[in-house]
Amino acid sequence: MAQQTQVAVIGLGRFGVTVATTLYQMGHDVLAIDQNPSKVQDLAGQVTYAVAVDATDEANLRELGIENFEYAVVAIGANTEASIMVTVILKSMNIPVVVARANTKLHGETLDRLRVSSVVYPESDMGSKLAHDLFLPGVEQYMELTSTYGFSKIKPPLKYLNQTLKESGFSNIRDRYGIAVIAIQRENEIILSPDENENLVEDDILVIAGPDDQISKVVGANEFKVDETTE
Ligand code: ATP
Repeated sequence: MAQQTQVAVIGLGRFGVTVATTLYQMGHDVLAIDQNPSKVQDLAGQVTYAVAVDATDEANLRELGIENFEYAVVAIGANTEASIMVTVILKSMNIPVVVARANTKLHGETLDRLRVSSVVYPESDMGSKLAHDLFLPGVEQYMELTSTYGFSKIKPPLKYLNQTLKESGFSNIRDRYGIAVIAIQRENEIILSPDENENLVEDDILVIAGPDDQISKVVGANEFKVDETTE
């Protein structure tokens, strides 16, 4: 487990709750804050400490000792004014890492000007992920690098099983598909930068990087269908 850190999560909408509970499950010390007491009650037992206060009041945050925290996540979205005010307070407390959530481009640009460590756009990130998931069938997980390029975890098409990477055309980065094989996940084992003579076996997962259209060709539904009928 990574070193336990103290993280404050402010704003317990769906996004804030997911961030707070996931960090807690990862073993971190999570202080969750919302001005709405019922949101705080709902989180009892799922984070280290949950408290109902107005986070735009600096005295409330100081009372909670937040200035000693290493990380803070401002998960307030729709209430732009509160999001910006809380971010200003946290930055003025010199918290090393402040991550803020934005709902609109203007909101995000304003947060950037406050020199937060990063701005996240949950709505548009989800939209982009959904679009990729829909149009890259066979992809288990996708991480966007640019709008047309990404990392993916894929199940190798059936026709490549029991072949070496070289035989299936994956060897020597970019030789056949223009994609790089970063790793093979075989049960709990990770084979990093696999050798071109590595055999692909059932239940292997390939971690690849490349342009979306090339990834799409590799995992293309046609290839799966052809193979399924020849099994
Ligand atoms: P989500 O999309 O994550 O569900 P939302 O858009 O429904 O969020 P937001 O308006 O972004 O809701 O607010 C998220 C949470 O932030 C709410 O639970 C709200 O009570 C809390 N919040 C808003 N202003 C403050 C504040 N000043 N202090 C503490 N919590 C606040």
